[in-house]
Amino acid sequence: MKTPGTTQAKAGTRQAAVKNKPVAAGKLLTVIGGVEVEVEVVRKRIRRLNLYVLPPDGRVRISAPQRSGDGAILAFIQSKEFWIQRQIDAVRSKPRPPEPQYVTGEVHLLWGAPLRLEERWAESPAPASAPAAAPTPASKGRRPKVWAEARGEALLLYAPKGSPRELREAAVDRWYRRELLAALPALIETWQEVIGVRANEVRVRNMRTRWGTCSIRPRRVWINIALAQAPPECLEYIVVHELAHLIEPSHNSRFKALMDRYLPDWRVRRKRLNEMNKIYK
Ligand SMILES: [Zn+2]
Repeated sequence: MKTPGTTQAKAGTRQAAVKNKPVAAGKLLTVIGGVEVEVEVVRKRIRRLNLYVLPPDGRVRISAPQRSGDGAILAFIQSKEFWIQRQIDAVRSKPRPPEPQYVTGEVHLLWGAPLRLEERWAESPAPASAPAAAPTPASKGRRPKVWAEARGEALLLYAPKGSPRELREAAVDRWYRRELLAALPALIETWQEVIGVRANEVRVRNMRTRWGTCSIRPRRVWINIALAQAPPECLEYIVVHELAHLIEPSHNSRFKALMDRYLPDWRVRRKRLNEMNKIYK
C-alpha cells in the first residue's frame, strides 16, 4: 500500500496537516500531540494491529500483520492519537524506581528475601571464597577487586573506596549469576524427567524484557539472571514454561494444558513474577 504524504487530522481535533512518512524498515514517523514521534513497527503472524506505549520513556510500538502496509498502520496510529498521548503522559509521569548505587544500606533481593548491602573496604581482603583470576601472566592468582557474596541477611560487597558504580554492579550481577547457576541444575534435571523432554543446553543471561526464552531447533533454554531476585517458585515456573515449549512452541491451549498438568498453580506464580517487574533495569 502506498504511504500517504500527509494525513489531515480528524475533524474537531487539530486542523494542522500531519506529516506521516516511512523512515526505515521497522520504523515510521508520525505526529502525536503536535510532536514528531518515531513508531517501532514489528510485523508478526497476527491478525490485528496492537499498539503499545512502553515504559519508562513512552516509546510507541505497534505489532502488525505481516502484509499490512505502512499507510494502514499510520492511519490506525492516527485514529488512536489521543489514547497514545494519554498513555505517553501516564508512563512518563510514573516515578521510576531509583537506580541502585551499590552502597551500604541498600536492599537487594535474593530469592524474594531482602538482603542489606554492606560495603567492606579494600583494607579487608577479598574472602577466600572469591576465586583467583585466571592465571594469565598479568593477573597471576589475583582475586577480583570487587566481589559480592551473601552472609546471613547481609550482602557483602568487597570494593576499594570510590570504585565505580559499574564495577560494583558487575560484582553483584556475578553474584546473582552464581546463585542462579547453583539452583538451576537440580530444577532442570527434575523437570526434564517429569515432563519427559531434554534441552541440549540451559544458559543464563541478563535480559531486559523476558524471564526466559526457548530456541526450539537447537533445544536451547535461556534463563534471566534476574530470576535470582524472585521467590524460588518463580524460577521453577519459568523452567517448566521453557521446557514445555520443547513440546509446544506457542502459547496455545495445548501449551496451557501442559502447564495445568505439570504446574497447576502456574498462573499464581506468573502473577507473582509480574509483580516483580520493577526490578527491570
Ligand atoms: Zn513462552
